[in-house]
Amino acid sequence: MGKADVVPTPGVSSDTPAFDAVVVGAGPAGSATALALARAGRSVVLVERGPFPGSKNVYGGVVYGRVLDEVVPGWWNEVPVERWVVRRSTMMMTGTQSLAVDYRSAAWGEAPYNGMTTVRSRFDNWLATKAVEAGAQLVTSTVATGLLRDGHGRIVGVRTDRDQGELRANVVVACDGVNSLLAKEAGLMAPAEASHHTLGVKEVLDLPGHVIDERFGLRRDEGVDIEMLGCTRGIPGGGFLYTNSDTVSLGVVLSLPHLAEAKVRPEELIADLKNHPSVAPYLRGATLREYAAHLIPEGGYDTMPTMVTDGMLVAGDAAAMTLAAGLWLEGVNFAIGSGLAAGRAVDRAIAAGDCSAKGLASYRSDLEGQFVLADHKRFRKAPALVLSERIQQRYPGLICDLVDGMFTVTNPVPKPGGVRLTRSVAAKHGVKLRQLAADTVRALRVFG
Ligand SMILES: Cc1cc2nc3c(=O)[nH]c(=O)nc-3n(C[C@H](O)[C@H](O)[C@H](O)COP(=O)(O)OP(=O)(O)OC[C@H]3O[C@@H](n4cnc5c(N)ncnc54)[C@H](O)[C@@H]3O)c2cc1C
Repeated sequence: MGKADVVPTPGVSSDTPAFDAVVVGAGPAGSATALALARAGRSVVLVERGPFPGSKNVYGGVVYGRVLDEVVPGWWNEVPVERWVVRRSTMMMTGTQSLAVDYRSAAWGEAPYNGMTTVRSRFDNWLATKAVEAGAQLVTSTVATGLLRDGHGRIVGVRTDRDQGELRANVVVACDGVNSLLAKEAGLMAPAEASHHTLGVKEVLDLPGHVIDERFGLRRDEGVDIEMLGCTRGIPGGGFLYTNSDTVSLGVVLSLPHLAEAKVRPEELIADLKNHPSVAPYLRGATLREYAAHLIPEGGYDTMPTMVTDGMLVAGDAAAMTLAAGLWLEGVNFAIGSGLAAGRAVDRAIAAGDCSAKGLASYRSDLEGQFVLADHKRFRKAPALVLSERIQQRYPGLICDLVDGMFTVTNPVPKPGGVRLTRSVAAKHGVKLRQLAADTVRALRVFG
Protein backbone atom coordinates (compact mmCIF):
# COMPACT_ATOMS: atom_id res chain seq x y z
CA MET A 1 0.00 0.00 0.00
CA GLY A 2 1.55 3.29 -1.03
CA LYS A 3 1.54 6.66 0.61
CA ALA A 4 -1.26 9.05 -0.28
CA ASP A 5 -0.99 12.82 -0.61
CA VAL A 6 -1.84 14.55 2.67
CA VAL A 7 -2.23 18.03 1.21
CA PRO A 8 -5.94 19.04 1.36
CA THR A 9 -7.82 18.73 -1.92
CA PRO A 10 -6.64 21.46 -4.36
CA GLY A 11 -9.11 24.24 -4.99
CA VAL A 12 -10.77 23.79 -1.62
CA SER A 13 -10.49 26.80 0.71
CA SER A 14 -8.40 26.08 3.78
CA ASP A 15 -11.48 26.44 6.01
CA THR A 16 -13.51 23.89 4.08
CA PRO A 17 -13.24 20.33 5.36
CA ALA A 18 -11.49 18.26 2.71
CA PHE A 19 -12.87 15.05 4.22
CA ASP A 20 -15.93 13.92 6.08
CA ALA A 21 -13.62 12.30 8.61
CA VAL A 22 -9.97 11.96 9.44
CA VAL A 23 -9.16 8.80 11.38
CA VAL A 24 -5.85 8.72 13.24
CA GLY A 25 -4.22 5.29 13.64
CA ALA A 26 -4.59 2.32 11.29
CA GLY A 27 -4.86 -0.29 14.05
CA PRO A 28 -8.03 -2.38 14.23
CA ALA A 29 -10.09 0.52 15.64
CA GLY A 30 -9.01 2.99 12.95
CA SER A 31 -9.38 0.61 10.01
CA ALA A 32 -12.84 -0.49 11.21
CA THR A 33 -13.91 3.16 11.53
CA ALA A 34 -12.58 3.97 8.05
CA LEU A 35 -14.23 0.85 6.61
CA ALA A 36 -17.64 1.73 8.08
CA LEU A 37 -17.40 5.33 6.85
CA ALA A 38 -16.16 4.45 3.36
CA ARG A 39 -18.92 1.84 2.99
CA ALA A 40 -21.42 4.55 3.96
CA GLY A 41 -20.07 6.67 1.07
CA ARG A 42 -18.21 9.15 3.28
CA SER A 43 -14.82 10.58 2.33
CA VAL A 44 -12.32 9.41 4.90
CA VAL A 45 -8.57 9.61 5.33
CA LEU A 46 -6.79 7.13 7.58
CA VAL A 47 -3.49 8.42 8.97
CA GLU A 48 -0.86 5.95 10.22
CA ARG A 49 2.57 6.78 11.62
CA GLY A 50 4.06 3.39 10.67
CA PRO A 51 5.26 2.52 7.17
CA PHE A 52 2.26 0.19 6.86
CA PRO A 53 -0.70 -0.69 9.11
CA GLY A 54 0.32 -3.02 11.91
CA SER A 55 4.04 -2.35 11.50
CA LYS A 56 4.19 -0.78 14.96
CA ASN A 57 1.58 -2.87 16.72
CA VAL A 58 2.25 -5.34 19.51
CA TYR A 59 -0.13 -7.78 21.16
CA GLY A 60 -0.22 -11.29 22.59
CA GLY A 61 -1.62 -13.17 19.67
CA VAL A 62 -5.33 -14.09 19.60
CA VAL A 63 -8.05 -12.28 17.69
CA TYR A 64 -11.73 -13.14 18.19
CA GLY A 65 -13.10 -12.44 14.73
CA ARG A 66 -16.87 -12.83 15.03
CA VAL A 67 -17.19 -9.05 15.31
CA LEU A 68 -16.42 -9.05 11.56
CA ASP A 69 -19.32 -11.36 10.60
CA GLU A 70 -21.48 -8.58 9.20
CA VAL A 71 -18.84 -6.33 7.66
CA VAL A 72 -16.69 -9.01 6.03
CA PRO A 73 -18.96 -12.05 5.55
CA GLY A 74 -16.85 -15.22 5.37
CA TRP A 75 -13.83 -13.33 6.75
CA TRP A 76 -12.26 -16.62 7.83
CA ASN A 77 -11.68 -17.56 4.18
CA GLU A 78 -9.37 -14.63 3.61
CA VAL A 79 -8.00 -13.42 6.97
CA PRO A 80 -4.25 -14.03 7.44
CA VAL A 81 -4.61 -16.68 10.14
CA GLU A 82 -1.77 -18.56 11.82
CA ARG A 83 -3.85 -21.16 13.69
CA TRP A 84 -7.46 -21.55 14.80
CA VAL A 85 -7.56 -21.81 18.59
CA VAL A 86 -9.19 -25.12 19.56
CA ARG A 87 -7.67 -25.42 23.06
CA ARG A 88 -7.85 -22.85 25.81
CA SER A 89 -6.15 -23.42 29.09
CA THR A 90 -6.01 -21.38 32.30
CA MET A 91 -3.11 -22.35 34.53
CA MET A 92 -2.48 -21.53 38.19
CA MET A 93 1.22 -21.79 39.00
CA THR A 94 3.86 -21.61 41.64
CA GLY A 95 7.56 -21.97 40.88
CA THR A 96 7.27 -25.76 40.87
CA GLN A 97 3.55 -26.60 40.54
CA SER A 98 0.71 -25.98 38.12
CA LEU A 99 -2.99 -26.71 37.86
CA ALA A 100 -4.71 -26.18 34.52
CA VAL A 101 -8.32 -26.00 33.45
CA ASP A 102 -7.87 -27.16 29.87
CA TYR A 103 -10.77 -26.89 27.47
CA ARG A 104 -10.81 -28.16 23.92
CA SER A 105 -13.59 -27.82 21.36
CA ALA A 106 -13.70 -29.38 17.89
CA ALA A 107 -16.33 -26.77 16.97
CA TRP A 108 -13.74 -24.01 17.46
CA GLY A 109 -11.75 -25.57 14.62
CA GLU A 110 -14.57 -25.00 12.13
CA ALA A 111 -16.20 -21.92 10.62
CA PRO A 112 -17.24 -19.50 12.03
CA TYR A 113 -14.44 -20.29 14.52
CA ASN A 114 -13.92 -18.78 17.97
CA GLY A 115 -10.42 -17.33 18.03
CA MET A 116 -7.33 -17.34 15.83
CA THR A 117 -3.70 -16.60 16.31
CA THR A 118 -2.62 -14.04 13.76
CA VAL A 119 0.35 -11.71 13.30
CA ARG A 120 -0.61 -8.07 13.72
CA SER A 121 1.50 -6.76 10.84
CA ARG A 122 -0.55 -9.02 8.55
CA PHE A 123 -3.94 -8.76 10.27
CA ASP A 124 -3.92 -4.95 10.60
CA ASN A 125 -2.73 -4.58 7.01
CA TRP A 126 -5.53 -6.88 5.83
CA LEU A 127 -8.20 -4.89 7.68
CA ALA A 128 -6.79 -1.57 6.42
CA THR A 129 -6.86 -2.98 2.87
CA LYS A 130 -10.59 -3.65 3.34
CA ALA A 131 -11.06 0.03 4.23
CA VAL A 132 -9.00 1.15 1.22
CA GLU A 133 -10.94 -1.17 -1.11
CA ALA A 134 -14.13 0.45 0.21
CA GLY A 135 -12.77 3.90 -0.71
CA ALA A 136 -10.81 5.15 2.32
CA GLN A 137 -7.57 7.01 1.63
CA LEU A 138 -4.64 5.58 3.60
CA VAL A 139 -1.72 7.84 4.46
CA THR A 140 1.23 6.00 6.00
CA SER A 141 4.53 7.15 7.56
CA THR A 142 2.66 10.19 8.84
CA VAL A 143 2.27 11.25 12.46
CA ALA A 144 -0.74 13.28 13.60
CA THR A 145 0.98 15.83 15.81
CA GLY A 146 -2.04 17.69 17.17
CA LEU A 147 -5.58 18.92 16.68
CA LEU A 148 -6.73 21.78 14.49
CA ARG A 149 -9.42 24.03 15.96
CA ASP A 150 -11.55 26.79 14.44
CA GLY A 151 -12.08 30.26 15.92
CA HIS A 152 -14.67 28.83 18.35
CA GLY A 153 -12.29 26.16 19.63
CA ARG A 154 -14.14 23.39 17.81
CA ILE A 155 -12.00 20.54 16.48
CA VAL A 156 -11.80 20.69 12.67
CA GLY A 157 -8.95 18.36 11.77
CA VAL A 158 -5.39 17.35 12.62
CA ARG A 159 -1.89 18.63 12.01
CA THR A 160 0.60 16.10 10.71
CA ASP A 161 4.39 16.01 10.50
CA ARG A 162 4.30 16.43 6.71
CA ASP A 163 4.87 19.73 4.91
CA GLN A 164 1.50 21.45 4.44
CA GLY A 165 0.14 18.41 6.19
CA GLU A 166 -3.03 19.83 7.75
CA LEU A 167 -6.02 17.55 7.28
CA ARG A 168 -9.41 19.23 7.73
CA ALA A 169 -12.53 17.18 8.31
CA ASN A 170 -15.99 17.39 9.83
CA VAL A 171 -14.96 14.86 12.45
CA VAL A 172 -11.69 13.52 13.84
CA VAL A 173 -11.75 9.93 15.12
CA ALA A 174 -8.86 9.25 17.51
CA CYS A 175 -7.79 5.62 17.20
CA ASP A 176 -4.19 6.31 18.16
CA GLY A 177 -4.00 3.61 20.81
CA VAL A 178 -3.21 3.51 24.52
CA ASN A 179 -2.23 6.84 26.09
CA SER A 180 -3.87 8.70 23.21
CA LEU A 181 -2.17 11.97 22.42
CA LEU A 182 -5.29 13.30 20.72
CA ALA A 183 -7.75 12.31 23.49
CA LYS A 184 -5.51 14.08 26.00
CA GLU A 185 -5.15 17.18 23.85
CA ALA A 186 -8.92 17.34 23.40
CA GLY A 187 -9.32 17.28 27.18
CA LEU A 188 -11.20 13.96 27.06
CA MET A 189 -8.68 12.01 29.08
CA ALA A 190 -6.90 12.76 32.32
CA PRO A 191 -3.11 12.35 32.37
CA ALA A 192 -2.20 8.66 32.33
CA GLU A 193 -2.43 6.93 35.71
CA ALA A 194 0.18 4.13 36.04
CA SER A 195 -2.13 1.93 38.10
CA HIS A 196 -4.59 1.77 35.18
CA HIS A 197 -1.97 0.26 32.92
CA THR A 198 -0.01 -2.93 32.65
CA LEU A 199 3.11 -3.52 30.62
CA GLY A 200 2.85 -6.42 28.19
CA VAL A 201 6.16 -7.97 27.21
CA LYS A 202 6.49 -10.86 24.81
CA GLU A 203 8.98 -13.02 23.00
CA VAL A 204 8.27 -14.73 19.70
CA LEU A 205 10.13 -18.02 19.61
CA ASP A 206 10.87 -20.06 16.50
CA LEU A 207 9.74 -23.68 16.67
CA PRO A 208 8.96 -25.86 13.64
CA GLY A 209 5.23 -26.28 12.95
CA HIS A 210 5.29 -30.09 13.24
CA VAL A 211 7.03 -29.82 16.64
CA ILE A 212 4.31 -27.42 17.84
CA ASP A 213 1.67 -29.89 16.62
CA GLU A 214 3.24 -32.80 18.50
CA ARG A 215 3.99 -30.99 21.76
CA PHE A 216 0.64 -29.24 22.10
CA GLY A 217 -1.48 -32.08 20.68
CA LEU A 218 -2.60 -30.12 17.62
CA ARG A 219 -3.27 -30.77 13.95
CA ARG A 220 -1.75 -28.43 11.38
CA ASP A 221 -4.02 -25.40 11.54
CA GLU A 222 -5.14 -25.89 15.16
CA GLY A 223 -3.79 -23.65 17.92
CA VAL A 224 -3.68 -23.30 21.68
CA ASP A 225 -4.06 -20.36 24.03
CA ILE A 226 -2.67 -20.75 27.57
CA GLU A 227 -3.22 -18.01 30.18
CA MET A 228 -1.19 -18.25 33.39
CA LEU A 229 -1.56 -16.85 36.90
CA GLY A 230 1.09 -16.98 39.62
CA CYS A 231 4.10 -16.74 37.31
CA THR A 232 5.12 -13.14 37.94
CA ARG A 233 6.95 -13.30 41.30
CA GLY A 234 3.94 -11.72 43.02
CA ILE A 235 3.79 -8.71 40.68
CA PRO A 236 0.10 -8.36 39.77
CA GLY A 237 -0.37 -9.66 36.25
CA GLY A 238 -0.07 -12.98 34.46
CA GLY A 239 1.49 -14.86 31.60
CA PHE A 240 0.42 -16.16 28.22
CA LEU A 241 1.52 -18.65 25.60
CA TYR A 242 0.00 -18.78 22.11
CA THR A 243 0.93 -21.04 19.20
CA ASN A 244 1.40 -19.59 15.71
CA SER A 245 2.19 -21.58 12.54
CA ASP A 246 5.87 -22.02 13.30
CA THR A 247 6.45 -19.74 16.25
CA VAL A 248 5.22 -19.53 19.82
CA SER A 249 4.37 -16.23 21.54
CA LEU A 250 5.29 -16.24 25.22
CA GLY A 251 4.84 -13.23 27.45
CA VAL A 252 3.89 -11.59 30.70
CA VAL A 253 1.57 -8.74 31.57
CA LEU A 254 2.67 -6.74 34.63
CA SER A 255 1.17 -3.99 36.76
CA LEU A 256 3.29 -0.91 36.05
CA PRO A 257 3.67 0.53 39.57
CA HIS A 258 4.37 -2.90 41.07
CA LEU A 259 6.92 -3.68 38.38
CA ALA A 260 8.73 -0.44 39.18
CA GLU A 261 8.73 -1.29 42.91
CA ALA A 262 9.87 -4.87 42.38
CA LYS A 263 13.01 -3.76 40.55
CA VAL A 264 12.95 -6.84 38.37
CA ARG A 265 13.29 -6.81 34.61
CA PRO A 266 10.41 -8.30 32.56
CA GLU A 267 12.91 -10.49 30.65
CA GLU A 268 13.78 -12.22 33.94
CA LEU A 269 10.11 -13.13 34.40
CA ILE A 270 9.91 -14.49 30.86
CA ALA A 271 13.07 -16.50 31.59
CA ASP A 272 11.36 -17.91 34.74
CA LEU A 273 8.39 -18.89 32.61
CA LYS A 274 10.56 -20.60 30.00
CA ASN A 275 12.20 -22.65 32.74
CA HIS A 276 8.99 -23.61 34.53
CA PRO A 277 8.53 -27.42 34.57
CA SER A 278 5.09 -27.09 32.94
CA VAL A 279 6.27 -24.75 30.16
CA ALA A 280 9.88 -25.76 29.44
CA PRO A 281 9.03 -29.07 27.70
CA TYR A 282 6.85 -27.19 25.19
CA LEU A 283 9.70 -24.84 24.28
CA ARG A 284 12.74 -27.09 24.21
CA GLY A 285 15.04 -26.00 21.37
CA ALA A 286 13.00 -22.87 20.57
CA THR A 287 15.03 -19.82 19.56
CA LEU A 288 14.29 -16.14 20.00
CA ARG A 289 12.99 -14.36 16.90
CA GLU A 290 11.53 -11.13 18.35
CA TYR A 291 11.09 -9.24 21.60
CA ALA A 292 8.49 -6.50 22.06
CA ALA A 293 6.79 -4.50 24.80
CA HIS A 294 3.67 -2.33 24.88
CA LEU A 295 1.31 -0.74 27.40
CA ILE A 296 -2.18 -2.15 27.97
CA PRO A 297 -5.04 0.00 29.32
CA GLU A 298 -6.35 -2.46 31.92
CA GLY A 299 -8.41 -0.17 34.15
CA GLY A 300 -11.69 -1.11 32.49
CA TYR A 301 -15.04 0.66 32.41
CA ASP A 302 -14.43 3.07 35.28
CA THR A 303 -11.24 4.46 33.76
CA MET A 304 -12.53 5.14 30.25
CA PRO A 305 -12.34 8.73 29.00
CA THR A 306 -15.25 10.85 27.83
CA MET A 307 -15.66 9.47 24.33
CA VAL A 308 -17.16 12.35 22.41
CA THR A 309 -16.64 16.08 22.09
CA ASP A 310 -17.54 18.63 19.42
CA GLY A 311 -16.01 17.34 16.17
CA MET A 312 -14.22 14.33 17.66
CA LEU A 313 -14.67 10.87 19.10
CA VAL A 314 -12.33 8.24 20.53
CA ALA A 315 -12.26 4.47 19.88
CA GLY A 316 -10.31 1.34 20.79
CA ASP A 317 -7.37 1.46 23.19
CA ALA A 318 -7.41 5.26 22.95
CA ALA A 319 -10.65 4.90 24.93
CA ALA A 320 -9.16 2.18 27.23
CA MET A 321 -11.30 -0.55 25.72
CA THR A 322 -9.09 -3.62 26.27
CA LEU A 323 -10.96 -6.16 28.37
CA ALA A 324 -8.30 -7.60 30.66
CA ALA A 325 -10.32 -9.45 33.24
CA GLY A 326 -8.35 -12.53 34.26
CA LEU A 327 -10.05 -15.06 32.05
CA TRP A 328 -9.90 -12.72 29.07
CA LEU A 329 -7.34 -10.55 27.33
CA GLU A 330 -9.31 -9.10 24.45
CA GLY A 331 -8.67 -5.78 22.81
CA VAL A 332 -8.70 -6.23 19.04
CA ASN A 333 -12.36 -7.27 18.90
CA PHE A 334 -13.27 -4.36 21.20
CA ALA A 335 -11.28 -1.99 19.00
CA ILE A 336 -13.08 -3.23 15.87
CA GLY A 337 -16.52 -3.10 17.55
CA SER A 338 -15.93 0.45 18.75
CA GLY A 339 -14.49 1.51 15.37
CA LEU A 340 -17.54 0.25 13.53
CA ALA A 341 -19.79 2.09 16.01
CA ALA A 342 -17.70 5.26 15.59
CA GLY A 343 -18.12 5.04 11.81
CA ARG A 344 -21.88 4.66 12.15
CA ALA A 345 -22.12 7.59 14.58
CA VAL A 346 -20.09 9.89 12.32
CA ASP A 347 -22.20 8.91 9.32
CA ARG A 348 -25.42 9.70 11.24
CA ALA A 349 -24.03 13.02 12.52
CA ILE A 350 -22.97 14.15 9.03
CA ALA A 351 -26.35 13.13 7.60
CA ALA A 352 -28.05 15.20 10.31
CA GLY A 353 -25.68 18.13 9.75
CA ASP A 354 -24.65 18.13 13.41
CA CYS A 355 -21.13 17.02 14.30
CA SER A 356 -21.21 18.54 17.75
CA ALA A 357 -20.92 16.32 20.83
CA LYS A 358 -24.72 16.15 20.80
CA GLY A 359 -24.81 15.09 17.17
CA LEU A 360 -22.22 12.38 17.84
CA ALA A 361 -23.82 11.16 21.09
CA SER A 362 -25.33 8.06 19.48
CA TYR A 363 -21.81 6.56 19.60
CA ARG A 364 -21.94 5.99 23.35
CA SER A 365 -25.48 4.56 23.34
CA ASP A 366 -24.56 2.26 20.43
CA LEU A 367 -21.57 0.96 22.42
CA GLU A 368 -23.67 0.51 25.59
CA GLY A 369 -26.14 -1.56 23.58
CA GLN A 370 -23.55 -4.00 22.24
CA PHE A 371 -20.74 -6.11 23.68
CA VAL A 372 -18.17 -3.32 23.78
CA LEU A 373 -19.50 -1.45 26.79
CA ALA A 374 -21.94 -4.14 27.97
CA ASP A 375 -19.02 -6.54 28.69
CA HIS A 376 -16.90 -3.80 30.23
CA LYS A 377 -19.77 -2.72 32.45
CA ARG A 378 -20.55 -6.29 33.54
CA PHE A 379 -16.92 -6.97 34.46
CA ARG A 380 -16.09 -3.47 35.72
CA LYS A 381 -14.91 -4.82 39.09
CA ALA A 382 -12.87 -7.66 37.57
CA PRO A 383 -9.55 -5.80 37.08
CA ALA A 384 -9.39 -4.86 40.80
CA LEU A 385 -10.28 -8.42 41.86
CA VAL A 386 -7.91 -10.16 39.49
CA LEU A 387 -5.00 -7.88 40.37
CA SER A 388 -5.68 -8.05 44.14
CA GLU A 389 -3.01 -9.32 46.54
CA ARG A 390 -4.72 -12.56 47.57
CA ILE A 391 -5.61 -13.60 44.02
CA GLN A 392 -2.14 -12.83 42.75
CA GLN A 393 0.10 -13.90 45.57
CA ARG A 394 -1.74 -16.41 47.70
CA TYR A 395 -4.39 -18.28 45.74
CA PRO A 396 -2.22 -19.86 43.02
CA GLY A 397 -0.10 -21.56 45.72
CA LEU A 398 -3.10 -22.28 47.91
CA ILE A 399 -5.02 -23.95 45.08
CA CYS A 400 -1.98 -25.94 43.90
CA ASP A 401 -1.34 -27.15 47.49
CA LEU A 402 -5.00 -28.08 47.90
CA VAL A 403 -4.85 -30.24 44.78
CA ASP A 404 -1.48 -31.60 45.89
CA GLY A 405 -3.09 -32.60 49.19
CA MET A 406 -5.89 -34.41 47.36
CA PHE A 407 -3.70 -36.21 44.83
CA THR A 408 -0.62 -37.07 46.92
CA VAL A 409 -1.02 -40.59 48.29
CA THR A 410 0.15 -40.44 51.89
CA ASN A 411 -0.04 -44.15 52.82
CA PRO A 412 0.25 -45.40 55.48
CA VAL A 413 -1.18 -42.08 56.78
CA PRO A 414 -4.95 -41.92 55.94
CA LYS A 415 -6.17 -39.30 53.44
CA PRO A 416 -7.08 -35.95 55.03
CA GLY A 417 -10.73 -34.79 54.93
CA GLY A 418 -11.55 -31.85 52.64
CA VAL A 419 -12.28 -29.36 55.43
CA ARG A 420 -9.15 -30.20 57.42
CA LEU A 421 -7.04 -30.03 54.26
CA THR A 422 -8.53 -26.69 53.20
CA ARG A 423 -8.06 -25.21 56.67
CA SER A 424 -4.41 -26.27 56.93
CA VAL A 425 -3.53 -25.19 53.35
CA ALA A 426 -5.30 -21.85 53.80
CA ALA A 427 -3.43 -21.26 57.06
CA LYS A 428 -0.12 -22.11 55.37
CA HIS A 429 -0.82 -19.36 52.81
CA GLY A 430 -2.02 -16.83 55.40
CA VAL A 431 -5.66 -16.93 54.29
CA LYS A 432 -8.55 -17.31 56.76
CA LEU A 433 -11.45 -19.55 55.79
CA ARG A 434 -13.87 -16.65 56.03
CA GLN A 435 -11.66 -14.65 53.61
CA LEU A 436 -11.67 -17.60 51.24
CA ALA A 437 -15.46 -17.77 51.43
CA ALA A 438 -15.80 -13.99 50.99
CA ASP A 439 -13.45 -14.00 47.97
CA THR A 440 -15.40 -16.89 46.40
CA VAL A 441 -18.64 -14.95 46.78
CA ARG A 442 -16.97 -11.79 45.43
CA ALA A 443 -15.64 -13.69 42.40
CA LEU A 444 -19.10 -15.13 41.73
CA ARG A 445 -20.56 -11.61 41.89
CA VAL A 446 -17.87 -10.08 39.67
CA PHE A 447 -18.01 -12.79 37.00
CA GLY A 448 -21.61 -13.91 37.52
C1 LIG B 1 1.32 -7.63 25.24
C2 LIG B 1 -0.09 -7.44 24.76
C3 LIG B 1 -0.88 -8.56 24.57
C4 LIG B 1 -2.18 -8.41 24.06
N1 LIG B 1 -2.87 -9.53 23.73
C5 LIG B 1 -4.04 -9.41 23.09
C6 LIG B 1 -4.67 -10.56 22.53
O1 LIG B 1 -4.13 -11.67 22.56
N2 LIG B 1 -5.88 -10.40 21.94
C7 LIG B 1 -6.47 -9.17 21.82
O2 LIG B 1 -7.56 -9.09 21.26
N3 LIG B 1 -5.87 -8.06 22.31
C8 LIG B 1 -4.67 -8.14 22.92
N4 LIG B 1 -4.03 -7.01 23.34
C9 LIG B 1 -4.71 -5.71 23.22
C10 LIG B 1 -4.71 -5.21 21.77
O3 LIG B 1 -3.39 -5.21 21.27
C11 LIG B 1 -5.28 -3.79 21.70
O4 LIG B 1 -6.48 -3.75 22.42
C12 LIG B 1 -5.55 -3.37 20.26
O5 LIG B 1 -4.36 -3.34 19.52
C13 LIG B 1 -6.21 -2.00 20.22
O6 LIG B 1 -6.38 -1.59 18.88
P1 LIG B 1 -6.39 -0.04 18.52
O7 LIG B 1 -6.64 0.05 17.06
O8 LIG B 1 -7.29 0.69 19.44
O9 LIG B 1 -4.93 0.47 18.89
P2 LIG B 1 -3.53 0.01 18.31
O10 LIG B 1 -3.56 -1.37 17.84
O11 LIG B 1 -2.52 0.39 19.35
O12 LIG B 1 -3.34 0.94 17.02
C14 LIG B 1 -3.06 2.32 17.15
C15 LIG B 1 -2.48 2.76 15.81
O13 LIG B 1 -2.33 4.17 15.83
C16 LIG B 1 -1.06 4.50 15.28
N5 LIG B 1 -0.72 5.81 15.85
C17 LIG B 1 -0.56 6.11 17.18
N6 LIG B 1 -0.33 7.43 17.33
C18 LIG B 1 -0.38 7.97 16.08
C19 LIG B 1 -0.23 9.31 15.61
N7 LIG B 1 -0.03 10.33 16.43
N8 LIG B 1 -0.33 9.50 14.27
C20 LIG B 1 -0.55 8.45 13.42
N9 LIG B 1 -0.70 7.18 13.83
C21 LIG B 1 -0.63 6.95 15.14
C22 LIG B 1 -0.16 3.35 15.72
O14 LIG B 1 1.00 3.24 14.92
C23 LIG B 1 -1.09 2.17 15.56
O15 LIG B 1 -1.08 1.63 14.26
C24 LIG B 1 -2.73 -7.11 23.84
C25 LIG B 1 -1.94 -5.99 24.07
C26 LIG B 1 -0.62 -6.14 24.50
C27 LIG B 1 0.23 -4.91 24.67
